[in-house]
Amino acid sequence: MSITLTEATVASILTRSSGYLKTVCSHSLQPYRGCSFGNSLCGVGCYVRHNPFVNRGAEWGSFLEVRENAAAAYCRQCDRERRWARANRGRFSVFMSSATDPFVPHEQRYGITRDVLHAMLENPPDELIIQTHSHLVTRYLAIFRTLSQRCGLRVHISIESDRDRLPGLPPPASPIARRFEAAQQLRDAGIHMVITVAPLLPIADPDRFFQRVAACADAVVVDHFIGGDGTATGARTLRTPLPAAMAAVDPACLDISYRDAILERALEQMPGRVGVGIDGFAGRLLSGPPVPREAIPGAASPADY
Ligand code: SF4
Repeated sequence: MSITLTEATVASILTRSSGYLKTVCSHSLQPYRGCSFGNSLCGVGCYVRHNPFVNRGAEWGSFLEVRENAAAAYCRQCDRERRWARANRGRFSVFMSSATDPFVPHEQRYGITRDVLHAMLENPPDELIIQTHSHLVTRYLAIFRTLSQRCGLRVHISIESDRDRLPGLPPPASPIARRFEAAQQLRDAGIHMVITVAPLLPIADPDRFFQRVAACADAVVVDHFIGGDGTATGARTLRTPLPAAMAAVDPACLDISYRDAILERALEQMPGRVGVGIDGFAGRLLSGPPVPREAIPGAASPADY
């Protein structure tokens, strides 16, 4: 499917969080509307594809709106939104992004996310959470190093399984091996690295998978589409071809008990470094407080650079 590209100026780029994201961050920021990864594996069950405010009637994966003034809009809004966030949510915490991927291939041409990150170097939020499905996130490693000295920076890379393919579905936007490499590169540079297993897909070898995660991430978050897609029963995802493809590999993975079994395996490999669902996205981990970075073998500190 070809993508219809449009360029737009937006009146605002910082959206005060509500619903699912309210306990995760004070604001979300979408450098693009739509997602060029919409026709890849993650796009099949993408929670955003059903949102009429985002897709405006177009098919998910068929459009991308480039928000060319995103950085300027951030600069214009950030003082006021910082004051509001600190008064109402405790801190000015930005999630980039919940309805697109900040590292879509078009980013190389337009540099919208890069410009927003540069704006944040001058006007940092208290916390920035970057969420991506792509290994292309490493292109901005130099910016992340500086930014991590100016605000709490967390990078989330989604790796939903150890399987690159599910029967009948398209390949992922970014191969699993490339995403693991990206996570390792970021962590080696002292960036706080979180792997988000969201939505959880059938995992062939959970112990081996979480050993790999443990080696390249500070924490892992596991989230099932039941509850995770914004409905208590996973109704949004059940309208897509994703569950049938998951069931073809392992029917048990459609039940929420699969998540709990996987969580046990994760906790064995990464005690104190495992989160579940929205609490995990917010940085609230199971089994007590997060383990200090210095206590995790192999984790570099930003101060090392
Ligand atoms: S990268 Fe994220 S926003 Fe884009 S299609 Fe995949 S899940 Fe949806």
